[in-house]
Amino acid sequence: MPAVPDQKRILERLAAAGLRPTRQRIGLSSLLFGSGHRHVTAEHLHGEALACGLRVSLATVYNALHQMTGAGMLREVVVEAGRFYFDTNTSAHHHFFHEESGLLTDVPGRAIHLEALLPPPPPGTRVKLVDVVIRLEKLPDEGQAVLQC
Ligand SMILES: [Zn+2]
Repeated sequence: MPAVPDQKRILERLAAAGLRPTRQRIGLSSLLFGSGHRHVTAEHLHGEALACGLRVSLATVYNALHQMTGAGMLREVVVEAGRFYFDTNTSAHHHFFHEESGLLTDVPGRAIHLEALLPPPPPGTRVKLVDVVIRLEKLPDEGQAVLQC
């Protein structure tokens, strides 16, 4: 059973991020931060909010997610143009994207060491973030025979 987020902890988190604790932000924060790290799309979170009785529009969910991202509470992960997820784990890490299911998961630990492969950044700049999304597809089911004519 997921831990029920403490309302006080949610309020402190919003205050630390400089966000006013509106009813919608408190409700969405409870869904986002109530049970460990999550990767959600705005549409998925909107569906969860409606299922929990939180009356909120998809536009409001988008706005809240972008505000939380701007305040450092979330990290945005772009999988492809127009498809992005919001990650409650804001530390530097990489992702697996399961194309069939649309599931985004963390690559465990520091399994990717890219530092030695990166070109030097242009003068006057530094590498802020290297964001790797490894796209996965299912292997063909071995039980399915391939027709050979
Ligand atoms: Zn992640």
